[in-house]
Amino acid sequence: MLEHRGYVNGEWVDSEHKFDVLNPATGERVARVSNLSVQDCSAAIDAAYLAQKQYAKWTGKERSQLLRKFYDLIVEHADDLATILTAEMGKPWAEARGEILYGASFIEWFGEEAKRVYGEIIPGHQRDKRIVVLKQPVGVVGAITPWNFPNAMIARKLAPALAVGCSFVGRPAELTPLSALALAVLADRAGTPKGLVNIVPSLDSAGIGKELCSNEKVAKITFTGSTRVGKILMAQCAGTIKKMSLELGGNAPFMVFDDADIDKAVDGAMIAKFRNNGQTCVCANRIYVQAGIYDEFAGKLVARMKDLKLGDGLADDVDMGPLINEAAVEKVENHIEDATGKGAKVLLGGGRSDRGGTFFEPTILANVTSDMIVNREETFGPLAPLVRFKTEDEVLDLANSSEFGLAAYFYTKDIARVWRVAEALEVGMVGINTGHISTEVAPFGGVKLSGLGREGSHYGIDDFIEIKYLCMGDI
Ligand code: ADP
Repeated sequence: MLEHRGYVNGEWVDSEHKFDVLNPATGERVARVSNLSVQDCSAAIDAAYLAQKQYAKWTGKERSQLLRKFYDLIVEHADDLATILTAEMGKPWAEARGEILYGASFIEWFGEEAKRVYGEIIPGHQRDKRIVVLKQPVGVVGAITPWNFPNAMIARKLAPALAVGCSFVGRPAELTPLSALALAVLADRAGTPKGLVNIVPSLDSAGIGKELCSNEKVAKITFTGSTRVGKILMAQCAGTIKKMSLELGGNAPFMVFDDADIDKAVDGAMIAKFRNNGQTCVCANRIYVQAGIYDEFAGKLVARMKDLKLGDGLADDVDMGPLINEAAVEKVENHIEDATGKGAKVLLGGGRSDRGGTFFEPTILANVTSDMIVNREETFGPLAPLVRFKTEDEVLDLANSSEFGLAAYFYTKDIARVWRVAEALEVGMVGINTGHISTEVAPFGGVKLSGLGREGSHYGIDDFIEIKYLCMGDI
C-alpha cells in the first residue's frame, strides 16, 4: 500500500517530478512521491465530473455497500496503514492505529447513513399544490487536508461525499501524502468506479488550491487547515459561489473549577493537551485553573507529564513522537521564550529534547497571563500554559476573548454551572468533564475564525447535499 503515484480517473499517475516524504523521527526518506501538476488536477476534476453523473444514479443501498467494503478493507489493513502513517507523520504507532480506526468509523457511519438521506413532503400552500423536497448530491467535491491527521481528515471528507452521491478530488498535505494514497489503493480495491475518487499529491499547494476553487465543475470545497489558508480559499471560491466547509484553527480553553474532580481533570488535560503531541486543532491551548485548586492541579499535572515517554513512533511504548518539522519546534520555543520573558515560570521541560531532531520536551508553564502569545495563538505543540482565575465570569470572559471558536473543555461537578458555562462559550464543541470529544456520531466544527460547517453526524450529511423543491400543481 505504500503507493507513491497520484490516483486520477482510476489510474496511477506517475510524474518525472517527485518530492520526498521524510520520517520526522529519523529524517530518513520514506518515499519519493509524484508531484502532480495543475493540469493533472483539472484532469481529475473532469474525470470526477463524469463519474459523479453516473454515480448519482446509484441507490442508497448500493453506495452503502461500496462504503462497507471500503471500511472492511481499511480495518483489515489497519496495522499497515498505521505503519505508513507513523512513518510519514511521526505519531506513535498505537495512536496512528487509533486514527485509522477513527477515520474508518466515518466510512462506516456515513455508509450506513447513505440509505437514509430522506427528502420531505410539505403540505401545499394551495388546494391543487403538492410540495416535495429532494436532497441531491452537490456534485464534485474538492478536498484539501493537513498533515496532522493524514488518514482521518481525508476519510472524514470522503465518507459523506461518497455516501450522498458526490465524487471526490483530494489534495493531501505535501508532508503526508502517503496515507491518502494508501486509502486510494483500498478505495480502488473496494470497487470504486473510475474517476469517483481522485488523489492529487503535489508540492504546488497554491496552484492546486486555486484550480479546485475556481474550476466550475467543482461544486464544493472542504478544507481542514489554518485560518490563513481558509481565508485564501474562501476568497478564491467567491468567483464560482461554491459551497464551503472550513475546519480552521482553534485556541481551546480548558477550565478547571474548584469543585472539579481534580484527578479526572488531570486525565482530561493529558488527553486534550498531549494527544498527537499537541498537534490537533482541538488541543487544549489555554489551561485555566481556579485559585483554590491551582497548586494541587499543577503538581498532579507535572507528575503525570514526567511519565510521558518520547521516541520514534515505530518503537514500543512511546507516548509522544517528534514534532512535524523544525518550524513547529521554533513556534513552541517562541511561545515559551515570550511567556518566560513576561513572567511565566517553567515547571517542567522548556526546550528541545536531548533526543535531537524535532523532539520536544513536554512543557508546563505557570503564571501565564493574557498578554502572552501562548494565550492568543495556537501553539500546536506539547506546551501546557496554566492561568490562574478567581470567578466563573472572569474565566468565561477570558475563554471567549479569542477570535477562534472551535472547542472548549471544562471540569465541574455543579450541574447549574455546566449549563451556564456551556451555553455561554463561543465555540462549536464543548467537552464537559472529558478531554476527548471527537467521534463520527457528533457534529465537529467551529464558529468565529474556526470555520464553517460540520463534519460527522447527520449534520455532516447536510454539507454535501443540495436541496431542490418541486412544486406540483393542477392536482
Ligand atoms: P497547517 O498549519 O496545518 O499546515 P495549512 O493551512 O498551512 O495548515 O495547510 C493545510 C493544507 O493546506 C495543506 O495541505 C497545505 O499544503 C495546504 N495549503 C497551503 N497553502 C495553500 C494555498 N494557498 N492554497 C491551497 N492549499 C494550501
